[in-house]
Amino acid sequence: MKLSTLLSSPTPSLSFEVFPPKTTDAYEDVSAAASAIAALSPSYMSVTYGAGGGTSEYTVAIAKGLQDTYGVPTLAHLSCISSTREEIHRQLDALKEAGIENILALRGDVPEGMSRDHLTYHYASELTREIADYGGFCIGGACYPEGHPESPNAKEDIRHLREKVQAGCEFLTTQMFFDNHILYNFLYRIREAGIHVPVVAGIMPVTNPKSIKRICAISGTALPQRFVRIVEHYGDNPEAMKQAGIAYATEQIIDLLANGVNAVHVYSMNKPDVAMQIKSNLSAILAP
Ligand code: FAD
Repeated sequence: MKLSTLLSSPTPSLSFEVFPPKTTDAYEDVSAAASAIAALSPSYMSVTYGAGGGTSEYTVAIAKGLQDTYGVPTLAHLSCISSTREEIHRQLDALKEAGIENILALRGDVPEGMSRDHLTYHYASELTREIADYGGFCIGGACYPEGHPESPNAKEDIRHLREKVQAGCEFLTTQMFFDNHILYNFLYRIREAGIHVPVVAGIMPVTNPKSIKRICAISGTALPQRFVRIVEHYGDNPEAMKQAGIAYATEQIIDLLANGVNAVHVYSMNKPDVAMQIKSNLSAILAP
């Protein structure tokens, strides 16, 4: 199913993300975790591409497995910064052959020291245009409620976001955020700027406090004082932190749904227990 259809429906959607393994011998574990999440019947699942330490070569295989075995629509991520046009076309051919209909078109992070002189693709909008010209896919893109870290200011970032939508992006998924007001403000600003595609809110249930401060510092994501207190208080107790992180994410999701943000994507980090708990916390709220 094309996500443009799913996301234009008034029914709320709850989706989960998985990332491919770093090494071949971890494939079975990741595949089992992804299957356990798919068994929860999410609205769709996304599979990252070369992010979070996972390699890009398994993205298609994992997405195909989830779609064929569980009937869950999938969104395959695809990044372009270090790819040639031929490589992108090979990946598009593989996705098409696998029956995957949705792609999240990304630039990817520029590797440190990499010269940008001879790149085929400099920005995600160029990849978006390439996929749109190829045809047949529903294309999504990333957006940053707190601004992309490389962007000089929010206005410029939103201007480039509009270019990405004009290039063929039919929906956007946000970077994680821990304060819903930041998203509401962002939505207001992008709508004012003429961006009217559906926006999927990306929610990260924090269960590992050690990495989150570093990730937030790199991505420019603010950690509200209320959240910092939780991490300080429960961070040394993994079970308590997990419970608190899931509760915080659940509360964010309930507030989003109550305020008309109908599409929520959970960065479930290959953790079926976390996905299961969040889904269960929302059982009556998401009941048809
Ligand atoms: P772009 O949309 O190209 O934006 C990057 C920067 O360039 C922004 O600052 C933008 O304002 C600026 N810009 C855009 N166009 C222009 C222009 N014409 N002139 C000047 N500046 C311009 N990474 C992975 O490697 N694999 C993944 O699977 C993955 N999944 C992700 C999923 C989500 C939901 C998000 C939010 C991020 C994901 N990332 C992933 C990370 C992403 O690749 C990085 O954040 C990357 O730095 C930017 O990618 P982008 O597609 O947003 O880039």
